[in-house]
Amino acid sequence: MAVLDKLTSQQAIELENKYGAHNYHPLPVVLSRGEGVHVWDVEGKKYYDFLSAYSAVNQGHCHPKIVDAMINQAKTLTLTSRAFYNDMLGKYEKFATELFGFDKLLPMNTGAEAVETALKLARKWAYEVKGINENKAEIIVCENNFHGRTTTIISFSNDSVARKNFGPYTKGFLKIEYDNLQELQEALESSNNIAAFLVEPIQGEAGVYVPSEGYLTAAKKLCKDHNVLFIADEVQTGIARTGKMLAVDHENVKPDILILGKALSGGAYPVSGVLADDNVMDVIKPGNHGSTFGGNPIAAAVAIAALEVVKEENLEENAEALGKIFRTELAEFAKTADLVKSVRGKGLLNAVLINDTEESSTAWDICMKLRDNGLLAKPTHGNIIRFAPPLVMNKEQLMDCISIIKKTISEFKK
Ligand SMILES: *Cc1c(COP(=O)(O)O)cnc(C)c1O
Repeated sequence: MAVLDKLTSQQAIELENKYGAHNYHPLPVVLSRGEGVHVWDVEGKKYYDFLSAYSAVNQGHCHPKIVDAMINQAKTLTLTSRAFYNDMLGKYEKFATELFGFDKLLPMNTGAEAVETALKLARKWAYEVKGINENKAEIIVCENNFHGRTTTIISFSNDSVARKNFGPYTKGFLKIEYDNLQELQEALESSNNIAAFLVEPIQGEAGVYVPSEGYLTAAKKLCKDHNVLFIADEVQTGIARTGKMLAVDHENVKPDILILGKALSGGAYPVSGVLADDNVMDVIKPGNHGSTFGGNPIAAAVAIAALEVVKEENLEENAEALGKIFRTELAEFAKTADLVKSVRGKGLLNAVLINDTEESSTAWDICMKLRDNGLLAKPTHGNIIRFAPPLVMNKEQLMDCISIIKKTISEFKK
């Protein structure tokens, strides 16, 4: 078999199983093409994509404006490293900081790197501005968080599969219950060494947990009162996914540090970033932090195009409107379908709760049937399925998808 011969799905799966590390458990479908809300497998079968690469492809697969920006920049200049200036990065930094309302941007590549950047930034601020004694800073995080897979980040995860046998763990984290202001207040009062509170405005991987209304506003105020930085990880919830540019915009909360990734590039290229105002970001000096690829010209060109698409195509409004329809329809369906407990979410980040245990395979088995019926989704737990299509979907397509989901679940037999 020559390396570039066309493969069947089975052959492609066997190659990955034999030659690739088994750090994922993919749904058995092999995709070879994408356009807008659709993807196609190697046999030519068409699917609706209801994962959007964990919300990286909010702008739709292979968006022509984003792809053109990438190709044009790739033909001109790809990488200089930050040893030299390039003529794209400053333009992108100006564009992004004005759009999100911060003084400065620190560009990185992946979400986990951006989270690491935010943690380092918060610690340095704590020592140099707040005046915490060296090596004493603590950062408050939430139970069931998901912030990526680096050694430090898994140190404060409570996902045993992600943690076990990867120790020793990084110290300096304090865990509280999500959506619990009492616990946050107690943690803030428990020590003078708190640097920051790191939180997802909606917990995505945990199963799309939407906190009580007012939680983010109150949490931000508590942090401010204790001179503690409020860090919002919007890697999954940001860039119009929940019906606003940022999920914190639903409560008009401005984080002290904002973490973005995933759809910052529309899925075309790994682009992440951390935004903050000067009083925080200025603690970072040459040599403190960096990445060879962070802020490269392709990333800058792609991110500008990806953010412009969100505005030009009104993806915030579309996600808000379609999300309401999705939840209304599925909530109505849940009344008659024994297998569906409830639906929750915001904008087009939604989860359907299946009437079974967390350890069961029911959500996975339903996703297999959804696949057979032309719709790709992935469980976040044994009993939760996340539904997050590209935000360029139209109402007619959404109604088609809702009927596929209802039909699949109605016909499902355990
Ligand atoms: C996906 C995700 C990350 C990690 O991003 P990677 O690009 O996979 O490293 C961090 N935080 C949240 C909230 C995410 O959803």
